[in-house]
Amino acid sequence: SPILDIHNLHKTYSNGFEALKGINLQITEGSFFGLLGPNGAGKSTLINSLVGLVKPTRGQIRIAGFDIEKNKTLALMNIGVVAQEILCDPFLSVYEMLSFQSGYYGLKNNDDWIEEILENLGLTEKIQTPCRLLSGGMKRRVMVALALVHKPPLIVLDEPTAGVDVQLRNQLWQFIEKLHQKGHTIVLTTHYLEEAQNLCSEIAIINHGEIVTAGTTDELLNAI
Ligand code: ADP
Ligand code: ADP
Repeated sequence: SPILDIHNLHKTYSNGFEALKGINLQITEGSFFGLLGPNGAGKSTLINSLVGLVKPTRGQIRIAGFDIEKNKTLALMNIGVVAQEILCDPFLSVYEMLSFQSGYYGLKNNDDWIEEILENLGLTEKIQTPCRLLSGGMKRRVMVALALVHKPPLIVLDEPTAGVDVQLRNQLWQFIEKLHQKGHTIVLTTHYLEEAQNLCSEIAIINHGEIVTAGTTDELLNAI
């Protein structure tokens, strides 16, 4: 069964705008999946629906077989989402944020993994730094680290390279690639065809709140 199973998902915002119009999407465990579409297509709405940042109007989402409404805790144990928004407490250090997040998942003795994440994200030297003293790019990396503290089998990144400098971008891709090789399923959104083409084995194209087409990257590129 798919690690992510989205069935007939609708989102109408309170102003009446229909951002998602019946999304159906199955993502196989182990894949590197790109959700491609222009600005305003509904990518963030879809991603944010997976972890309750957006409340869907209608439809079902299953993560690792767990319905996000009926089995919320188990569903959330299996997914890590890097949203676009930066949410960090100005007065907490990087370590404190990661440690609290670990506690939220009921994880104790998570320091080895926290150190490994920080090393891979080039944040080791910032471990004791309070969030208010971090640059924008560092805060973004902390958001990535927070999404990984519980080693989620499914990792979802919303436009991970937006506003990130080239060096950091490459470091981030290397780490994501490493996680994929370890068996994590990766889903990312992008509005760059080239990015999806280079990284992803499967792609779905979303526009105006609907999946326009989906398939392997090779299939889709041959059809263009
Ligand atoms: P919901 O329909 O899920 O209750 P709301 O319509 O109340 O969501 O909006 C949630 C938040 O998104 C609000 O803080 C609102 O200011 C913000 N928002 C409103 N319109 C937009 C938009 N076009 N793009 C992004 N965010 C928006
Ligand atoms: P994408 O991530 O593909 O750029 P979004 O999911 O952010 O697309 O937005 C899809 C559409 O929904 C856009 O037209 C956006 O303005 C609108 N939208 C997003 N959030 C809200 C909100 N809270 N209230 C009303 N409209 C919204």
